[in-house]
Amino acid sequence: MNLNAKVTLFFIGIAAGLLAVLVAISLYAFRSFSIASATEHIRTAGEIVRVHLTESMINGVIDKRERFLQRLVEVQGLTSARVIRSPEVQKQFGQGLSVELVADEGERQVLKEGKPRFELITVGEETLFRGTIPYIATSTGNPNCLQCHNVQEGAVLGAVSMSMSIDALRSKALYTVAGIAGAVTIFALLLVLLLRRLLRPISETALAVEDAVQRALHGDFKAHVERKTNDEIGQIANDMNRLLTFLDDGLNRIGNNVARLTERTPAPGENLLTATIDMVEGLTRAAHFKQAIEEDEVKSEIYQRLSDTLKSEFKLQEFSLYEMSSNKKQMHSVIVDGELADACRWCDPQILVRPEACRARRTGHLVDGMENPQICTSFRPPEEAGDRRYVCFPVIQSGSVGSVLQLLSTPEEQAALKAKVPLVSVYLRETAPVLETKRLMESLRDSTLRDPMTGLNNRRFLEEYVETLISGVQRKRSTVSILMLDLDYFKMVNDTYGHDAGDSVLKGLSNVLKQSVRASDLVIRYGGEEFLIILLDTAGAAAERVAENIRTAVENLKVQVSGVVLQKTISIGIADFPTDSDTFWQAVKFADVALYQAKERGRNRVIRFDPSMWNETKDY
Ligand code: GH3
Ligand code: MG
Ligand code: MG
Repeated sequence: MNLNAKVTLFFIGIAAGLLAVLVAISLYAFRSFSIASATEHIRTAGEIVRVHLTESMINGVIDKRERFLQRLVEVQGLTSARVIRSPEVQKQFGQGLSVELVADEGERQVLKEGKPRFELITVGEETLFRGTIPYIATSTGNPNCLQCHNVQEGAVLGAVSMSMSIDALRSKALYTVAGIAGAVTIFALLLVLLLRRLLRPISETALAVEDAVQRALHGDFKAHVERKTNDEIGQIANDMNRLLTFLDDGLNRIGNNVARLTERTPAPGENLLTATIDMVEGLTRAAHFKQAIEEDEVKSEIYQRLSDTLKSEFKLQEFSLYEMSSNKKQMHSVIVDGELADACRWCDPQILVRPEACRARRTGHLVDGMENPQICTSFRPPEEAGDRRYVCFPVIQSGSVGSVLQLLSTPEEQAALKAKVPLVSVYLRETAPVLETKRLMESLRDSTLRDPMTGLNNRRFLEEYVETLISGVQRKRSTVSILMLDLDYFKMVNDTYGHDAGDSVLKGLSNVLKQSVRASDLVIRYGGEEFLIILLDTAGAAAERVAENIRTAVENLKVQVSGVVLQKTISIGIADFPTDSDTFWQAVKFADVALYQAKERGRNRVIRFDPSMWNETKDY
């Protein structure tokens, strides 16, 4: 029920109540007035009758009383008038006329008590007002009652009983009351109409405001509340419109900015408010994600976190993440369906060795295999991938595609996947620079641990790695052999053929060293033309055999430099850890001592450390 209806009902209720009270009061007043005036009327008539009867008695024409009474009735507007005799009078003068007999208990009462009585009686259909007034014997006046009547003073001689119709009065009263009620009703109706008219702008404004609020809750701030009046209600409409315009403007601006950030265009008819809230929440989560990955130490942690987010937040089960190798010639698989992996699952594996086959990698554009599943020829054929749809995101780092993320879905979930694309793009956009930083840091770190000329690890690497190495050796209770190598008379090469020729020899030597040991062994450029080789799980004679192999390989190595072929020899010292020494660095020192011995004993040879050498050196 709206305000207008409520107020109308309220006022009609009040008006009806007032009207009822008014009618009741009027009717009561009329009744009292009617009875009072009828009583007075009858009293007057009764007095007239008394006087006339007295006169008639004195004049001896009491017999004619009947005609007088009839005439009185005609003149006075009475319905009936009759005289009744008391028993005393009957005793003295006889019964009188038949109409003068006592009619009922009421009259008998009057004769007995001597008090007038007024009452409403019903005769047939008619309601009459009857008054019965007693005549009391009195000694005052001349002549007086007691002169003729044989009674005591104060005795009741008789009574006159008169009745009159009050129907006329009643209907007059009813007409009057109806008239008043009608006037009041018309007045009240006019009042209600006026009130409704005054209230209409209020209730219409209230309805319009309610409608506008409802629309606003659904993200539509375009509602307009019409201004109906120039008072406070009109002001409410104005303020509401200003608020709506402000909200609409603000939300549009926020929405547009957010949509630009997420590259997401709100669908027509979409709730702008909830869409914006969703987008802002997505951006916030993406910002938290970025914060988390910035604090990750290595790329693999970032990839893992991205994968976990895809699973938990985006509810994706099937996806692949590829990374370009640092030389950009290959691509490798990092994560497949949430697990670390090094193979392709959803693409032709040729993309790993020929990254251009990956469309996202080649074009640097998002590849939408939802609209057009045939767009990328490297996607697994239907026999293997079923009717899955895919979308591939290139992750651009330093201007080129550094990684590729591929998301998959069933055809049924395609729409859901499509809805996730903008926010996934945001996440990747946040991830790209962090990945790039980590990649740079890793390669920088790599460069400080690696010798650029030979590509071998350097002494710093050994210093950082040694702890891991020793704990591994101790855990496995194994032994490592340490080979210290130094080219013989290398200075001569530099002096004779120049520094570049010397570098070429060092590069050639590095290749020989790498090829002479297992992939798990470590070859370190320890100093200028000094190398250190750590042979894992090797000791004693086996190490010597490797050293000897190296020695002969170097001896046979021919390095072509500016028209001449250079051939050099190398000296090698060996010590085992922990066989020869309790500490790793001590073992390195012992290998160096053995190398010194090899030089001493004529170079181009392999010498194993012996404690006696240590004593000699100490003496030396
Ligand atoms: P030996 O070890 O047999 O006693 O004689 P050597 O001539 O090799 O003597 P030494 O070990 O003292 O000389 C090392 C030389 O190696 C000195 C330096 O010019 C050269 N050298 C060190 N590092 C490099 C490098 O990176 N490039 C070139 N070209 N030469 C280097
Ligand atoms: Mg040297
Ligand atoms: Mg040397």
